[in-house]
Amino acid sequence: MTNNAETQVQTDGFHLILDALKLNGVNTIYGLPGIPVTDFTRMAQAEGLRVISFRHEQNAGNAAAIAGFMTGKPGICVTVSAPGFLNGLTALANATTNCFPMILISGSSEREIVDLQQGDYEEMDQLAIAKPLCKAAFRVLNAEDIGVGIARAIRAAASGRPGGVYLDLPAKLFAQNMDAEVGKSTLIKVVDPAPRQIPAPDAIKRALDLLKGAKKPLILLGKGAAYAQADADIRALVEKTGIPYLPMSMAKGILPDTHEQSASAARSYVLPEADVVLLIGARLNWLLSHGKGKTWGGKSHKDWGGQKFIQIDIAATEMDSNVRIDAPVVGDISSCVAALLAGIGNNWAKPPVEWLSAVAERKNKNVAKMAETLAKDPKPMNFHSALNVVRDIVKANPDAMLVNEGANALDFTRSIVDMYKPRKRLDVGTWGVMGIGMGFAVAAAVESGEPVIAIEGDSAFGFSGMEVETICRYNLPVCVVILNNNGVYRGTDKNLGGGADVAPTVFVKDARYEKLMEAFGGVGVYATTPAELRKGMEDAIKSRKPTLINAIIDETAGTESGRITSLNPAAALKK
Ligand code: ADP
Repeated sequence: MTNNAETQVQTDGFHLILDALKLNGVNTIYGLPGIPVTDFTRMAQAEGLRVISFRHEQNAGNAAAIAGFMTGKPGICVTVSAPGFLNGLTALANATTNCFPMILISGSSEREIVDLQQGDYEEMDQLAIAKPLCKAAFRVLNAEDIGVGIARAIRAAASGRPGGVYLDLPAKLFAQNMDAEVGKSTLIKVVDPAPRQIPAPDAIKRALDLLKGAKKPLILLGKGAAYAQADADIRALVEKTGIPYLPMSMAKGILPDTHEQSASAARSYVLPEADVVLLIGARLNWLLSHGKGKTWGGKSHKDWGGQKFIQIDIAATEMDSNVRIDAPVVGDISSCVAALLAGIGNNWAKPPVEWLSAVAERKNKNVAKMAETLAKDPKPMNFHSALNVVRDIVKANPDAMLVNEGANALDFTRSIVDMYKPRKRLDVGTWGVMGIGMGFAVAAAVESGEPVIAIEGDSAFGFSGMEVETICRYNLPVCVVILNNNGVYRGTDKNLGGGADVAPTVFVKDARYEKLMEAFGGVGVYATTPAELRKGMEDAIKSRKPTLINAIIDETAGTESGRITSLNPAAALKK
């Protein structure tokens, strides 16, 4: 007679985690194998998941975070314990700051040993460390709780204001056995992970009343608006009201930057001049000068400019964080914009013509000025002449993804390169963090299937440069363009002590970054002219081969800290 126990089909922690992820639509894992997750990554592949394995966990974490932004579903990053976990933590914290949904899953040491501090292999109280840096942190100790653990992680990452979630999985959990049927019954397919939050009708009325009375209204679109994937309604709201709009960096392309209502080229005019500002998924943080000060027409940096604000945000606590919000609209952007649209109807009076023509006048003047600068062909190349090429290539390939980091490389690209479609521009975000480049580029290629153009400062590239091997290994259609001016900001600083060392901001002169890509079988291009850069980029997009273009620009080009020089403490001393 066969014993029942012998015929019972068993499952284990490894497979329950994978089954729970698959049940919830996860098809890609970003990570880096090692103890105790090596077999987990192998089994994931065996179970049909795509596993993208990186050279450093921070880059894997950044990839997961931006996958979350692009898809609206939490990106998954898997790391080993202590050091690997810590490497992933920067990306987790950055995801939380940027409101990107991601789940960092790290293997960990056994609780009994950690709690008694007995010195386990890579011992660390990871849960405690992660907690203040993310939206939520959970630990699963028993295989039968895996379903709940994954469900809670998904809900916490995706619902309300999205963010990073840490999931702690002690090594012992992976090998725990249980009856397969029982195991299956413990898994949860999350129903409606990011529930709509419908705004209150009186909040909508208050917002419309304020907007109706405006003489100089302005709409400000943030990356929350891009994330919400409410592109058609947002466009309809902008076009039906006729209000000029400004996109924040990662909101570029929700409407094409060439849209006639875009006020990007008149930013420094519209912010202080506007009387009512409708914020859609944008925070009044440092990137918007906290809604006050000279940027907004105030007399000193502490003054309010007198604008009235309507703010659409899913987080009620965001309201009044910097200045008074006169008409808070709390809810998800899709529902809020749809409600505003319904309230606007078809007879909305467009803004006064004086306002529209004043904005148009500034804009046209600045566009003409920029065209003049872009038409120049200085030798050596500078940021403008190089980015003029990138601008053309992106225009010809509007579906391509654009990744962008650096100081000057960021500022100039943002203002010179127009975007034509939503969620195509991925950059340093709320923290202005360096190091997102190659992680974002990998995920952009994996998630979209489109060619990726990564415009990198030579300093920024260094933070994640080793991932060119990852790009080659998975044969991803990524074209990295390094705007190389031999240093952080530029390559001309002098050692103030007069010693033999170069200044802290200076790199090796004429570094041949393109050879890094060649080392792993990709294409390297050394470009000293716009024509060479153009040919390199065109070839890369056509061939879809991993390519790195070392674009040599004038080493004196670039300003200290780009456009945020005023944030350097020494700037205060000079005042
Ligand atoms: P930017 O840097 O582009 O100005 P922020 O990251 O500062 O954008 O702001 C994004 C805002 O969008 C956050 O306050 C976040 O709470 C909000 N948000 C994100 N997703 C949604 C959504 N689906 N509905 C409503 N608000 C959202």
